[in-house]
Amino acid sequence: MKLDELEKSVEDEMLARKAANLLRENFPGKEISNLLIVKWGKKWKSKLAHIKAIDDYGEYGTLIEVNELMKDASVPAWMIDVTLLHELVHYFHGFGSNHPQKFRNPHKGGVVDSEIERFGFGELLKKQDKWLKENWTQLLEKNSL
Ligand SMILES: [Zn+2]
Repeated sequence: MKLDELEKSVEDEMLARKAANLLRENFPGKEISNLLIVKWGKKWKSKLAHIKAIDDYGEYGTLIEVNELMKDASVPAWMIDVTLLHELVHYFHGFGSNHPQKFRNPHKGGVVDSEIERFGFGELLKKQDKWLKENWTQLLEKNSL
């Protein structure tokens, strides 16, 4: 990944601000220990977002990209929040970042969801599942995917 691929837009800035707020509210005392970039990704059929190290071990930076399909006005704001929370949990578990890796597998034993539940967003996880079941296929069709 080269830095010139990390073009920024107003929409990216809004997403980055959302992530900054979620970080402040849910991860007090946790350190962002490298360059963390949050931006919109591509229109993916089967993933909401991903997190990856920009360099080999994430010493320099981390990139979180959110599925561009979620820019659609029909997607509730909380869907984006819960997606960002998920990736931020990975960040602090040392996946795609320079934090010490806490688990062998990023989703081991549902660790990400448990943490999101601890933040008090258990209901959002259920709503997310429901929303995806009811709306994702139409969103893909609307975008000819
Ligand atoms: Zn994940």
